[in-house]
Amino acid sequence: MEVFDQLDRHGYGELHLSLDRATGLRAIVAIHDVRLGPALGGCRFVSYPDEPAAIIDAMRLARAMTAKAALARLPHGGGKAVIMRPEGDDFDRAALFQSFGRFVDTLGGRYLTTEDSGTSTGDIAEVRKHTRHACGFTGEAGGSGDPSPLTALGVCRGIEACVKHRLGRDSLQGLRVAVQGVGNVGGHLCRELASRGAKLVIADVHAQRCADLSEALGAEIAEVSAIHRVECDVFAPCALGGAINARSVPELRCAIVAGAANNQLESDADGQALAERGILLAPDYAINAGGLINVALEVSGYDPDRARERTLAIYDTILEICERADQVGERPDRIADAMVAEILAAAA
Ligand code: NAD
Repeated sequence: MEVFDQLDRHGYGELHLSLDRATGLRAIVAIHDVRLGPALGGCRFVSYPDEPAAIIDAMRLARAMTAKAALARLPHGGGKAVIMRPEGDDFDRAALFQSFGRFVDTLGGRYLTTEDSGTSTGDIAEVRKHTRHACGFTGEAGGSGDPSPLTALGVCRGIEACVKHRLGRDSLQGLRVAVQGVGNVGGHLCRELASRGAKLVIADVHAQRCADLSEALGAEIAEVSAIHRVECDVFAPCALGGAINARSVPELRCAIVAGAANNQLESDADGQALAERGILLAPDYAINAGGLINVALEVSGYDPDRARERTLAIYDTILEICERADQVGERPDRIADAMVAEILAAAA
């Protein structure tokens, strides 16, 4: 892999590596952009097939964080850390995360770390022993706690904005929403939608989660392989990335795609195919920023009311994206990208 070519291709930025033989730490911090403020983004602790895969993952994710923070009008740039998980279980987890904390500290606050796939608030507590440049504490510790409820609230507000724009309706009452994946965010989203009178169809590989929500909210359950084909007003991907792909787009029977999952478009061509079918897409990094807003507010002293208020504003961001897209006949995701570029240029 040509590292500088990759940096150039992703519009970078900085890439920092740390190797600590004593603890087995192999960590990468990608800082994509700091024009709006210190880079903020989670730390992943997962197994990678090789080093290029880990580096590219960090770079790709950090770039997405720049866009997410900019559209959420946060005073932060995009960053991401990846710790390559050592093979087997024969390592001292606390020592590893403390070592990562020392690494983060050497960056002098240009990168603020937090939880992500494979890491927990306990790991971040170890990181904090060696740097103050970490956030994402439990509610009991005065922190922002689980980000999922606010992510779900933001997604719900984004759905409301899409419904207003596309269907001309101020309410979700009686609308049918198909939710793919009812885990942390999807589950909370179902509760938000149900409280606004939406009718739910849900699917999850974890059958018990569907059964519980069906009982609590009266949601209809669909097959995992068929949820995208359900006739509905809104299809909400809340499981893995790539839900909008060459197989699913021709089968969608919805007016709007708006959900929490990151990287919903498997490829750019899928975004084009969706637009050609006249289906409105809420760009994922604009609609799912509630969790980032939540954790970012820890930096200035966490206030749950402010976090909620800022998350509710996702409605305005999504509406602005939709309106601008219509005005110039462009795809909403391209408009969102243009808005990010404008915000970053203004900051510079
Ligand atoms: P989660 O793991 O709690 O939930 C995902 C759910 O999807 C699980 O219940 C899983 O069983 C289910 N699932 C997996 N494959 C599926 C499939 N093929 N069909 C249907 N269901 C399937 O994760 P989460 O925290 O709820 O996050 C969901 C998505 O939202 C992820 O893409 C994540 O990156 C994104 N996201 C989450 C947050 C947050 O605050 N947690 C913030 C921004 C974005």
